[in-house]
Amino acid sequence: MSLKFQRIGMLGGTFDPIHLGHLRSAVELHEALSLDQLHMIPAQQPPLRDQPQVSARQRLALLKAGIGDTPGLLADDRELLRDGPSYSTDTLAELRAEYGENTRLVMVIGFDAFLRLTQWHQPARIFEFAHLVVIARPGYGDPLPAPLMELVEHRVVDSVEELMQRSCGGFLSLELPSLMAISATYIRKRLKAGKSVRYLVPPPVEQAIARYGLYQQCE
Ligand code: ATP
Repeated sequence: MSLKFQRIGMLGGTFDPIHLGHLRSAVELHEALSLDQLHMIPAQQPPLRDQPQVSARQRLALLKAGIGDTPGLLADDRELLRDGPSYSTDTLAELRAEYGENTRLVMVIGFDAFLRLTQWHQPARIFEFAHLVVIARPGYGDPLPAPLMELVEHRVVDSVEELMQRSCGGFLSLELPSLMAISATYIRKRLKAGKSVRYLVPPPVEQAIARYGLYQQCE
């Protein structure tokens, strides 16, 4: 029975800033995968993006404020403590070493990030350490490009139960109950235009953004 093994999730991102699309997905992932803990890990220097406009420490502070006391969600600063680019395989290797070989380790990404997976550093190595779960995101339903299909097709499983039979190596596409068409890009755009982000981010995040005047003259 796989339930006796710990189940740990990793949701990486720029979180620039954290928003309710991330947080509601995190809560629903925690529930759907019966995770013991979901590590939410801000990237230091995302290898495939421009430098974020707010410092890594500020993004982490907003993430912590957004999570608050939500059970099972953890703001994990390990990538900010590392020099150089943030590679998910390094982070997964660390988590695997910490939690041991039997723990069910799951890396979660949204469909938009999944579409770029073949550009990542050594994407096939993810499966040496973890399962990959892809969550649907409003506005993204494109058919998979051939190289991406090749990377995952022999790993596909159809249920969480099947995924959790093993500690790594599987691929599951998951539709969470609440699809939210919120993106950090949209939030940054609104803030730059001096518009409200109420109900797009949690109140403590909205308050911190206002208090420190974040995202008001960026891009
Ligand atoms: P940006 O608009 O700056 O690209 P973002 O809103 O996509 O940012 P990221 O920090 O890049 O946020 O996202 C981290 C992870 O969360 C990615 O895997 C992304 O696909 C996923 N994600 C972001 N927003 C949502 C959402 N509304 N619903 C589901 N998943 C999301």
